[in-house]
Amino acid sequence: MTEMAPRRLLLVHAHPDDESINNGVTMARYAAEGAQVTLVTCTLGERGEVIPAELGHLGGAALGAHRREELAAAMGELGVSDFRLLGGAGRYRDSGMMGLADNDDPDCLWQADLDQAAAHLVAVIREVRPQVLVTYDDNGGYGHPDHIKAHRIAMRAADLAADPAVRSGLGEAWRIAKVYWNRVPRPAAEAAFARLNDALPGLPFAKSAAVDDVPGMVGDDRITAVIDGTPAHAAAKAAAMRAHATQIVVAEPYFALSNELAQPLFTTEYYELVRGTAGRGAEGVETDLFAGVTGDEGAL
Ligand SMILES: [Zn+2]
Repeated sequence: MTEMAPRRLLLVHAHPDDESINNGVTMARYAAEGAQVTLVTCTLGERGEVIPAELGHLGGAALGAHRREELAAAMGELGVSDFRLLGGAGRYRDSGMMGLADNDDPDCLWQADLDQAAAHLVAVIREVRPQVLVTYDDNGGYGHPDHIKAHRIAMRAADLAADPAVRSGLGEAWRIAKVYWNRVPRPAAEAAFARLNDALPGLPFAKSAAVDDVPGMVGDDRITAVIDGTPAHAAAKAAAMRAHATQIVVAEPYFALSNELAQPLFTTEYYELVRGTAGRGAEGVETDLFAGVTGDEGAL
């Protein structure tokens, strides 16, 4: 077995494309710095709407298989080699938007037993031994059932992995030192939308999304960490998003999902530390998610 990288980052997401939209710069940075970056995606996004007309025939399992390839291509752009599907490919199905009959599918993520789903992630946590976990807030950023469930699975698995009484596979109990939720500060979102609305006539999008549509938006005071992308990492993020071609149209520094509403492509990514101790710099906001992490303090 090869030696573990000293810094290990775990990200938990709902569908292929969420990781690149939310954390592309962060993933590219830490992969480039030699940290172990592990992505766990909970579903293949089989209920996603397909943007390109020539791929419009894809749906269900065929779309899931296609999105798995898009995810692999995106990870290639970010330099991330360790990406996994929760419980294996196809174990949990996309639940669709809140309130739809899709949510009643017994195989969908929304219907999954929380501890059973978390057990798959406990095994990953004990194998990878991440010091840092990144996931969504308790509303999944914007209320999608799979995003809410991904949040619950991530937080529950972090607890279970740290409990020596919970037996899972071969790994020893491991406590994740720092847990972050994806955030966007309202002032940054408002400034980005002001620039977007000025630029809109020259963009391939007819309309802009609303500021309040931005997932995970909070006041400035809730932001505890800021990862400012270098041009190389920003380019990697845009390329990773472009790799999810069934889901995203990119026109840097903007993009649109299947609703065709333009949004800013954030090349600075923001986080709120919800568990653990910040390793604060002079300006009071972390610029490194591993700040204050010393190594194997999570071993129990
Ligand atoms: Zn999603």
